[in-house]
Amino acid sequence: MQTDILDRDIKFLAGVGPKRAELLKKELNINTFGDLLFYFPYKHVDRTRFYKISQISGDLPYIQFEGKIISARYTGSGRNKRLTASISDGTGSIELVWFRGLRWIADLMKPGKQFVVYGKPTVFNNKVNLVHPEMEDPGKQEKTINASLQSFYNTSEKLKNSFITSRVIQKLQNKLLTMVYGKIPETLPGNITGRLKLAGLNEALLNIHFPQSPELLKKAEYRLKFEELFYLQLGILRQKADRNQKIRGFVFKRVGRLLNSFYHEHLPFELTSAQKRVLREIRKDTATGRQMNRLLQGDVGSGKTLVAVMSMLIAVDNGFQACLMAPTEILATQHYSTLSKMLEKLPVKVGLLTGSTRKNKRIVLHDQLRSGEMHILIGTHALIEESVRFRQLGLVVIDEQHRFGVAQRAKMWKKNPDPPHVLVMTATPIPRTLAMTVYGDLEVSVIDELPPGRKAIISAHYYDSKREVLFGFMRKQIGLGRQIYVVYPLISESEKMDYKDLEDGYLSITRAFPQPDYVVSIVHGKMKPADKETGMQQFISGRAHILVATTVIEVGVDVPNASVMVIESAERFGLSQLHQLRGRVGRGADQSYCIFMTSYKLSNEARQRMKTITGTNDGFEIAEADLKLRGPGDMEGTMQSGFPFDLKISHLGKDNQILEYARQQAAVILDEDPLLEKPGQELLRKQLQKLHPEADNWRRIS
Ligand code: ADP
Ligand code: MG
Repeated sequence: MQTDILDRDIKFLAGVGPKRAELLKKELNINTFGDLLFYFPYKHVDRTRFYKISQISGDLPYIQFEGKIISARYTGSGRNKRLTASISDGTGSIELVWFRGLRWIADLMKPGKQFVVYGKPTVFNNKVNLVHPEMEDPGKQEKTINASLQSFYNTSEKLKNSFITSRVIQKLQNKLLTMVYGKIPETLPGNITGRLKLAGLNEALLNIHFPQSPELLKKAEYRLKFEELFYLQLGILRQKADRNQKIRGFVFKRVGRLLNSFYHEHLPFELTSAQKRVLREIRKDTATGRQMNRLLQGDVGSGKTLVAVMSMLIAVDNGFQACLMAPTEILATQHYSTLSKMLEKLPVKVGLLTGSTRKNKRIVLHDQLRSGEMHILIGTHALIEESVRFRQLGLVVIDEQHRFGVAQRAKMWKKNPDPPHVLVMTATPIPRTLAMTVYGDLEVSVIDELPPGRKAIISAHYYDSKREVLFGFMRKQIGLGRQIYVVYPLISESEKMDYKDLEDGYLSITRAFPQPDYVVSIVHGKMKPADKETGMQQFISGRAHILVATTVIEVGVDVPNASVMVIESAERFGLSQLHQLRGRVGRGADQSYCIFMTSYKLSNEARQRMKTITGTNDGFEIAEADLKLRGPGDMEGTMQSGFPFDLKISHLGKDNQILEYARQQAAVILDEDPLLEKPGQELLRKQLQKLHPEADNWRRIS
């Protein structure tokens, strides 16, 4: 069979037609026969087993049983109107409930009628029932390819309204597979499927839709996941190899006077061995003529700033300039004062450029940058502006990467005719699997060790009812000389409500911590920059005991004497943000605490988040949990610009082993044949072009 049949318009499949085709295209992006085949079920359910009604309990997953309708009646009224049918099989009876399509269903629920019922038992008012179960006439069960497990497909509200249910999609798959099975062209080279003992594509597609056995389903999933991740990695590695070949990086040949003198005379403490290792990695990158693109991950407080400083000194030692870009003005300013202090005894000139830098100062800065007199520039997005020109920019450090999009990274590149080395630092640990895909073209360094002497932060989850206990604890800590952050969420659709929460909270805190014994300052996004600065300074200088704030303090702020973090409405934050916030404390020598306040009513997911966050201080563990809980598309922080790949079957949180393996296999192939030119590689080339055309651009350029 020719490949064309898979390219055929979906409307030509028997049972589809123009109207359904329109919907399938719009709602599920299924345009062709091939698209349908690669529209995979999201779960499989054993339909060989029939339960007795007496065996059904509320904690069972999806189940099926057969029974006879005893009665059906309407209850409630208006929006609460529903249809309840009672069904029995002789061992007992159970209720079926519908909220929609009542009239239509009521007509079918005639007493005495026999049904195969399929659904998920739930408990309501201490009684087990099934809401919106699937009902089938036992005599008319549709004949499909025999399968031991039934597939379930995601559909949309619109599709359901047009009666394109999971079941209908299954029937379409049945028609299609009956027609094309055995004739679908293989998309992985025979040496790979053979060597790795992967299922063939025909077998895999058959079994993913109509599993012949649980084992064959597993094999099918593995093959399809492997293939998806393999081509993804092949594309990423191909691009990376190509970039390394084409772009020449500046060579930082020597470790010079500045670095040596800083290291030996001005370093306030011994580097951790993780910091040393990362510095070695950076030195290696920048000394070889390759252009460095490195992602530096390190949990909050792990000492990334110091690594940035020393890397920038290497650049300056070699006659280049360097810049450090931070996501907020507060953070940029703080970096500037830290660095100026650290480097004050050295002959390096450090400057600050932010949105609020005055024009006359700006003009001087621009001149100093162009002449090369200014060595290190620290700032915000303002650094990207067209008017900022360097004499010879050798290194760009981007702090807290997740706040910057890829586009901005690219812009920094263009500051020079030749691209500078780029070091991206993030405290949002990115699980390895994600780093290998989203940031797959970056090298990754990890600081996996905190500076010595840090005490682990003690975390606790309190319900609002324990507020008095909390206030008592806060008073005690303030009595010990500590400072406290109280953070409110500012994330909802309704900003007004959020600000009201914040203001109410501020009032209740000023009441519980009255002047003159206590000083409470407040910082939030709606304040004028100058007021914000004042509020912040009051806290940084130690005059304020409590800082009430929105998440503006989330990133980077360093007040070692602040040892208590209280997060209000913690259920409204995501895991990685909670972890970021917690990282604001635990920076000094004192025991630190983080209290997560929530209301008593919590969703299961929120409860799970509280359990995870109070159970560990390890950012990587938290990121992994987040990825598992929510999947890559929703990972906060890391993915502001959207997850760039549409994965049809793999899950980056769960399939990391397959991903590692696929990457390794892709690397082996590219090692031997970087351009995929050797005979026998046509299939790889063709598939890569089809699936990841962006990775194939090098062909046109070179
Ligand atoms: P982050 O990785 O979150 O940016 P910072 O660079 O702000 O962390 O460092 C956190 C704190 O740890 C700073 O006060 C810094 O001076 C201190 N620090 C960094 N490296 C070390 C070290 N090797 N030993 C002791 N303290 C260190
Ligand atoms: Mg930092």
